[in-house]
Amino acid sequence: MALLEIRNLHAEVEGEAILKGINLSLNTGEVHAIMGPNGSGKSTLAKVIAGDPGYEVTGGEVLLDGKDILEMEPEERAREGMFLGFQYPVEIPGVSNTYFLKAAANAIRKHRGEPEVDAAQFLKHVRERMELVQMDESLLKRPVNAGFSGGEKKRNEIFQMAVLEPRLAILDETDSGLDIDALRTVSHGVNALRSDDRGFLLITHYQRLLNYIVPDTVHVMVDGRIVKSGGKELAEELEASGYAMFEEGTAA
Ligand code: ADP
Ligand code: MG
Ligand code: MG
Repeated sequence: MALLEIRNLHAEVEGEAILKGINLSLNTGEVHAIMGPNGSGKSTLAKVIAGDPGYEVTGGEVLLDGKDILEMEPEERAREGMFLGFQYPVEIPGVSNTYFLKAAANAIRKHRGEPEVDAAQFLKHVRERMELVQMDESLLKRPVNAGFSGGEKKRNEIFQMAVLEPRLAILDETDSGLDIDALRTVSHGVNALRSDDRGFLLITHYQRLLNYIVPDTVHVMVDGRIVKSGGKELAEELEASGYAMFEEGTAA
């Protein structure tokens, strides 16, 4: 059974069809990249998987470990083992990073019928993960994302992922610009967490990012559909030729 199975997914925003039949199957141990021109629906796909209420699913299925997630609340999806990077850059005044992560970790454990984390063990785990993403300890005590720079938010996002150890991580690297430090943070974190019992869906405009994180599969999305899938060499082809050939191919 695939870790993530998307079948003929259709979705609308404000009555306009954006996703027009997405099919994708991702197994544990795999990293898939979704690339595509601006406006093709990549972030919409991420938001629909996250359960963003602004997006209406009009057809199809999304299964995580065989369970239909489309009827679940966003929090429940997280408890089922999904991590959505872009969901957490919100600032949470008055709640320290450590407290937030402990609460999130405990919610996941409770859902699995496991006891709450041991405070000392959790702190040890957090420190190990902090080193992994080279995060400054002072960020731990500060309220979640409050006054963080863009790079610090990005580092914090990867840190949150490293602490929570999701089954499936979906990272949408928008075109707002990853500088070289953020690029290294993301790729180092993802590469360190790659494992046989975890999968990644990496949405990116940047062929460059895929020089650091070598994906198993690359999908090209154009106008709400996946028009081509292939190995890592597909990202290199796109870097050389752009998306024009796909766009012409689907214009009719
Ligand atoms: P990408 O991430 O590939 O650049 P998006 O998923 O952000 O593409 O956008 C796909 C299309 O959906 C665009 O035409 C965009 O304008 C539209 N869209 C996305 N979100 C919204 C929204 N909240 N309201 C209105 N239109 C939206
Ligand atoms: Mg965009
Ligand atoms: Mg986008």
